[in-house]
Amino acid sequence: MCQGWFLLFKNKLNVGFDLTTKIPVAISACLMGDSVRYDGKHSFNQLIDTEFSEYFHFVNICPEVEAGMTVPRPPIQVVEFDQIRQVVGREDQSINVTQPILMVAENRASHFIGLCGYIFKSRSPSCGLHDVPIFNDQGDIVGHGAGLFSQRFLEMRSIPHIDEQQLIDADQREKFFMDVKLFSQGTI
Ligand code: SF4
Repeated sequence: MCQGWFLLFKNKLNVGFDLTTKIPVAISACLMGDSVRYDGKHSFNQLIDTEFSEYFHFVNICPEVEAGMTVPRPPIQVVEFDQIRQVVGREDQSINVTQPILMVAENRASHFIGLCGYIFKSRSPSCGLHDVPIFNDQGDIVGHGAGLFSQRFLEMRSIPHIDEQQLIDADQREKFFMDVKLFSQGTI
């Protein structure tokens, strides 16, 4: 059954939607309730489940687990060394998972050709889109940017994308939905 915002959106744009075929959309696995976070918990997002599950076939991806990290695991963060960003342990900088994370991004971007969109987890050093704290090697925050997985993935695959914080805004939610739909039709 259509949710309120989607019904309004659909009526406004006078577009139909084929409910027999769900559109494949990747998502940070923790947002779907997979207990894959560093602390063994998840970040289940009710809004995404309620608003999109009827229309999207979600492909759950946790780049840190796919990179071989355990659950639970030591927390990591993005650190800039000589202007090169790497993902290292928050407590122990000898833990460096930069290359495995980048390899997962390249592998996923190369092999999931049918994806029409991606919903990322905000602030994650792997999955974040724009609000990930960037540290120097002294532990000071020097800015904010993208996580290493999401950045490399989107460099290789230009598909509609958003994070769960942006989805709270109805306008951004509608735009993402429309972009995914048009992308699935080959229109954009
Ligand atoms: S790496 Fe991404 S999917 Fe995995 S727990 Fe962190 S934010 Fe969630």
